[in-house]
Amino acid sequence: MSVSEAAQPIIPTPAFSRRHLLGIEGLSPLEITSLLDLADDYVDQNRLIDKKQTTLRGRTIINLFFESSTRTQSSFELAGKRLGADTMNMSVKSSSLNKGETLIDTAITLNAMHPDILIVRHQDSGAVELLSQKVSCSVINAGDGWHEHPTQALLDALTIRRRLGRIEGLKVAICGDIMHSRVTRSNIHLLNTLGAEVRLIAPKTLLPAGIERLGVTVFNDMRQGLVDCDIIMMLRLQMERMAGSFIPSTREYFHYFGLDREKLALAKPNALVMHPGPMNRGVEIDSSIADDRAISLIQEQVEMGVAVRMAALTALSRQLDRGDHL
Ligand code: ASP
Repeated sequence: MSVSEAAQPIIPTPAFSRRHLLGIEGLSPLEITSLLDLADDYVDQNRLIDKKQTTLRGRTIINLFFESSTRTQSSFELAGKRLGADTMNMSVKSSSLNKGETLIDTAITLNAMHPDILIVRHQDSGAVELLSQKVSCSVINAGDGWHEHPTQALLDALTIRRRLGRIEGLKVAICGDIMHSRVTRSNIHLLNTLGAEVRLIAPKTLLPAGIERLGVTVFNDMRQGLVDCDIIMMLRLQMERMAGSFIPSTREYFHYFGLDREKLALAKPNALVMHPGPMNRGVEIDSSIADDRAISLIQEQVEMGVAVRMAALTALSRQLDRGDHL
């Protein structure tokens, strides 16, 4: 058997039968687990010399990013290409969006070109869902405002599952700018659905009112919140979303809420550290922790991102093949 023949896996049909992937909220444990299982296979495929698959041959995927992105956009592009699809990146800077065309007009224009899957990032919460109602193709939410970033939560879960073998029963602390974080909201839904215990650690100014209702425990003191945790997810201070001052200074913020060796020692002895990127080194995380591959899963998260996005694209294209959607 040649290498390229060996590289074509038998793809199981995931138990995810929706037309769009707009958020983690409302997905069942089975839907989430089946996407993770499929992504797990793709991790191995992506480590082969010949990574090219034909699963999405003939499909057209458009990346439509209204906000900047490094990891998410490049990994969706790579995921589509590895699956054999034609992928196109819409550069918002050079499009008519600069000339005042609305989000919906842009979506309808792109839809007329018969894409199969649109991958959309937008600065407004709810914008991607609205757009999904106006097009006939499938839509993946690549981050909308403060709301959701479903593939980030899936890649975080895959990273944890591959390292620790499970999600259920783990204590996961999410620390930092919870207020502006779509990553946090998607992770809360996913981790709760799969049976982890979620703690949020943040200054009061960076915590949305009533967040406890999502089934989390809130701490304003990082030293207390970290005790006995298995996983620590650090978040970027999202300055671009802050109108006004939420913290006295980044130096003071690091003192109370930055992850350094002293605070890390309060978590479980083998606790692991994650960050969705991009990182503000020395603001929310000390470089010596971020770069320590024995503790930091940050590079693994990037690797899992490609595999998870391949799984999401495969699952949605299976629905397009079947022509029946929820
Ligand atoms: N990359 C993540 C997001 O798009 C986290 C961040 O930007 O801080 O939400």
